[in-house]
Amino acid sequence: MPGINIGIDLGTSNVRFFVEGKGLVMTDNTVTASDTHSGKTVSLGAKAYQMIGRTPDSVAVHYPLRDGIISDFTAAQNLLRYYLQKICGNRIFKPNLLLCMPSGLTGLEQRTLLNIAVSSGAAKACLIEKSLAAAIGAGVDYRKPRGTMVVDIGGGTTEIAVVTMGSLARHESLRIGGNTFDQDIRRYVRRERYILIGRLTAEQIKKKIGCAYLRDAEIAIAVKGKSYLSGMPVVFEASTTEIYLAMREHLEQIAEAVRNTLSQSTPELMGDIADSGIVLTGGSALLPGIAGCIERRAQVRTVVADDPANCVARGIGIALEHMELLDANGCFYKTPQQIGTSA
Ligand code: ADP
Ligand code: MG
Repeated sequence: MPGINIGIDLGTSNVRFFVEGKGLVMTDNTVTASDTHSGKTVSLGAKAYQMIGRTPDSVAVHYPLRDGIISDFTAAQNLLRYYLQKICGNRIFKPNLLLCMPSGLTGLEQRTLLNIAVSSGAAKACLIEKSLAAAIGAGVDYRKPRGTMVVDIGGGTTEIAVVTMGSLARHESLRIGGNTFDQDIRRYVRRERYILIGRLTAEQIKKKIGCAYLRDAEIAIAVKGKSYLSGMPVVFEASTTEIYLAMREHLEQIAEAVRNTLSQSTPELMGDIADSGIVLTGGSALLPGIAGCIERRAQVRTVVADDPANCVARGIGIALEHMELLDANGCFYKTPQQIGTSA
């Protein structure tokens, strides 16, 4: 097959590109900004991300994905087309793409993803389940008849799956992720302190002092916001305890869902998982204490994978190099033909 093979982890928060033979070549925010009059894209990725909450009337920020699913077809296409052009330069042959998808997508949603890939400049496009890619990227021997539980906590969703023999035995997708925690922090500060803060500020607070347990030694940082009452700028101190309390409910919901998925597994798979433990991947697995939070609820040893944010992209990369193996092992990836479209 002429043309280079590129693996893409198109997530709600970040998009990552893996080029066969080169590795992970690019990571950027899944955000675009366009001119409201002409509709022309003015910015993409990190530059567009920095515009959130700061745009004039003439510029609109777009989120190509919401809750793990394409919600803005044009924005997604613009983003992919731009990066594919950047990666491929002026090569004659179009690239072949392997994209990850959340489990449980309908045929129509899968076709939408494949259509976007092809209309963004792909010669051929295939899909792989995100949880499977996460397991491969986390170093799980996915081919064995042995169950492993992988929980990918990203920006918009949490994907819980039991992987065995290169397939998903159980899966559950929650619309809870890092963005939910950011919203929790914003809501908490507004309710408890009558102060408004933006999305980016909330995310920064979470990354700096957020944790999934009540810390003995509290840490506080100064944060700038806008008073809800006077409308004027204010500086306040946000503490680890407050931030934990703000996110607690959704953290517990994730842990509860992991426990539920585990409890629905067959006794054999459950025994395997009890031995091998639960593996966490995704950017939000970097939240300190999140493994402990899940471990307490599920009663199974839980570990965060190495470099969790890049696990899915790495897994797609490995799958790219073993395409024939994936093909022989079952329905790991789907070409447009396999899901019934000639896209
Ligand atoms: P997606 O695959 O859904 O695009 P990622 O797996 O890239 O998402 O994870 C992005 C999420 O991880 C964001 O919500 C981001 O705030 C969160 N995140 C990144 N680093 C940290 C960190 N150090 N602590 C807590 N959350 C983090
Ligand atoms: Mg991800």
